[in-house]
Parts: sequence; C-alpha cells; structure tokens
Amino acid sequence: MATFRRPHQAVDFDELQRRFPPPPEYFESAWLDDPARIEAKQLARLKARAHMAQQVPFFDRRWRQAGFDARDLTSLDDLDGIPAYTVDDIRASIEAHPPYGDYQGASVAGALQEPIRLFASGGTTGASRPTLYTAWDREVGALLTARALYLQGIRPGDVVVNAWAYSTHNGAHIMDEALYKWLNCVVITTGTGNVTASKKQVELARDYGATAILTTGDYLLHLADVAEEMGLDVREDLALKALPNIGDPATLEARFGVPVLDSYGFHEVQWVAVECPERDGLHIFEDAFIVQIVDVDTGEPVPDGEQGSICITELYKTGSPQFRYNIMDLSTLRPREQCACGSWLRKMEPFAGRGDNMVKLRGVNLWPEALGEIAMRVPDVSDDYFVRAHREGNRDEITILVTSTSAPADFENVREQVAKALADTTGVKIGVEVVAPGSLDARTGFGKAAKLIRFEDER
Ligand SMILES: [Zn+2]
Repeated sequence: MATFRRPHQAVDFDELQRRFPPPPEYFESAWLDDPARIEAKQLARLKARAHMAQQVPFFDRRWRQAGFDARDLTSLDDLDGIPAYTVDDIRASIEAHPPYGDYQGASVAGALQEPIRLFASGGTTGASRPTLYTAWDREVGALLTARALYLQGIRPGDVVVNAWAYSTHNGAHIMDEALYKWLNCVVITTGTGNVTASKKQVELARDYGATAILTTGDYLLHLADVAEEMGLDVREDLALKALPNIGDPATLEARFGVPVLDSYGFHEVQWVAVECPERDGLHIFEDAFIVQIVDVDTGEPVPDGEQGSICITELYKTGSPQFRYNIMDLSTLRPREQCACGSWLRKMEPFAGRGDNMVKLRGVNLWPEALGEIAMRVPDVSDDYFVRAHREGNRDEITILVTSTSAPADFENVREQVAKALADTTGVKIGVEVVAPGSLDARTGFGKAAKLIRFEDER
C-alpha cells in the first residue's frame, strides 16, 4: 500500500471539470454564461480564495496592516479595498524568508498529500522567484491553457511541436500539459533552436504533419526562413493551421496564411484570456480570474477604457494564491457587453507593454515596446529593435536601434524617417541607429531566450 497520494487520487477530476469546463465543452457552457451567473460564480470563488489567502503569512500580514479581514468581503466591489502587491513585494518576501518566501500557499512538505511542482521566474538580476503549484493548480492551469489553444485553432489529436524552452520557467511545461492532458495532442518536445537545430525542427514539423509550432512569433518566422532555404513552401509543405505564437499578428498571418488570435497569460497564473474569432479584444476566463486595471504609479483602479497595469486575482487555485497581483503588464479593460460571438465574458485589450519599463524623457512617459511599434511601421524597417536609455553628459537620452534590409547606403534615409515618426508621435527627440539584420541578436537574446529582451536601462 502506497503511503502517499498519487495525482489521480489527490485531484477529483469530475469536480474539477464541473467547475472549469475544458474545451470544447467550455464554449457551449460557461463561455456563454449571462452576466449574473458569471458574477455569482466569481463572488463565491473569490470568498473562498480570500479565506485561503488569509492563511498565508504574506497576505495575512499585509491585510492586517490595511485593516482587511476575509470575512468583510461581501461583494466584488470589496476587492478594491484589499492591498495589491507587485514583484517587489515578492522579492522582499523571499529575502526575508528564503528560499520560498512566505507567499506560498503550498509547501514541499505537503507533496505526499498532493504532488507539487516548483517553477521559477526571473533570476537574471537576483534570486529566482519560485511558485509552488498543487496538482489541482497544474490541472486547472493546463485546462485554461487548452481553452486558449483550442480557440486559436488546435484540435484534439493534432500533432504539435513545442519549441518553447523547457527550463525553470512554467511556460513550456504548461503548454505541454495542456496539449497532452486536455487536448490529446501528440506533442513533439523540441525545445528552442539551441536544443534542436532549426532545420531539424522544420523536418519534424513537416514529417509528422504538425498543425502548430509553439514558440515566439520571431522564432517561427526564422523557421519559415529556414524552411524556404530548404526549398520548402511554408504554406504548402507544412500543415500549420494554428498560430498561437506571440508576435505581430499581421506579419505572421501574411507569412503563413493562418489567422492569429491573441491571448494573454503569465507564469504564476497561467492562461487568462483569449481573443475570439470576432477579433475585437480578449475574453477573460472569468470563472478563473478577476482582472482589474490599476494606475501604474498609485495602484488605484482606473475607469474602464483607460490603460493601466493588469492587477489579477485568480479564483481557481488550492495552493499559492495570486490575490490582487499587480503584474505591471499594460492593458485596458472594456465594460461588460455581449460580443457578437455570444459571450458576455469581459474583454481586455492585448498586452500593450510593460508598466515598469516605462522611461520618462523630458517629462514624457515612454514605453520601449511602443517605440518599437512606431519604428517598425516605417517602410524598410525590419521586425526587430532594441531600446537603450543612457546618459549623455547630464541628460537622459533614449536611442532605438532598428534593423533594415535596405542597402547600407540608404540607412541614413531610413534613420531620418524613423526619427521623424518617433518625434511626431511622442513629441520628444529620440536617437535612432540603423543596423543590418541580425546585428541585434546578442542584445535581444534571439534564438536563446524565450522572451526577447527589448530594453536596457544603462543609466
Ligand atoms: Zn467574442
């Protein structure tokens, strides 16, 4: 007799699917809930999560200081009165209580009762930030991810190449679990180009008829180049029918001839929202999340339709809570209304950059991602950029490096056009350098990092 509980004993799968319908059933059920039902579910789950979060020292301490008790929570509006936290608070918690911090709602010691996984984010500039996931949290997280992948075009039984980096980070693993456990997909785990050569990735996708290659949009475009060098036509010789890739939708669609539906998720909470075929905003999985938008500087909620930082509360976990986590990703929330697809689920705008990369130049707030967008709209500028904030004498300056496929003799002309576009849009003078394609790879981590680095503050 085993003295510990295996995953299928620790998780009640019937109950799990009743609460969080998986695809495709989800799109015939909770996806179409009316507003009253959506909010009733949210309030019941929010109350339960608040009671559990209060057992966790990190939340208990912060809530006490703010005079909040979980029993006071009687409506969704009460959420505004509960302190939000950022990654800085998580870092402080780890420093005071190494190595797990005191924000975990699960422990390694509990792994015999219910299997536990540990994934860590960050770590390039300090201690990595671990999150402990219970088996339940993994299953629901994978199911939510499967909902997004399904809407983006992946179908049960498909062969899918997973080219995300299998590392300390959750990303590649939650994709894998979603595909294998909730969509019965046959997953080919290639990892990044450093693990499996790009040519090999293309061969695997072609030979096994992969319908999707999960990776960044940038790496997918690189694979398209490699395929063409091999004499293949990416539309004819590959069987891609879903592009769940993070990148410029127009560029990806033009190359592969497949629609790109945007989605949003992050490490600690897994998949949050996905665009429906109407392609007019991302529907939030509201049976599992409450998304708020708050002011980047003050953390106070902003009105619907105004851009700010995403502050998220998950409603599905049994382990480590994320209860008003201000993630500093920028987006905008829409008021609730019925979409042409039939769903009443609230919508958010696609990820619009990072709140904490914000640079003030001569009193103007600038986001590197936004500068990159403007620069890449200029003809002859390729889909690559890097932004530097630096000091010149005693002035702060911002310089954007862009690449161009035009002849080096034309770089000056391209530089002037980019500089003008940036000045016209932002109202401040931004330095521009034009370099040959590939020159920025060492800075952006292209081909190595799962998420490209687009900004460095050198001051
Ligand atoms: Zn819709």
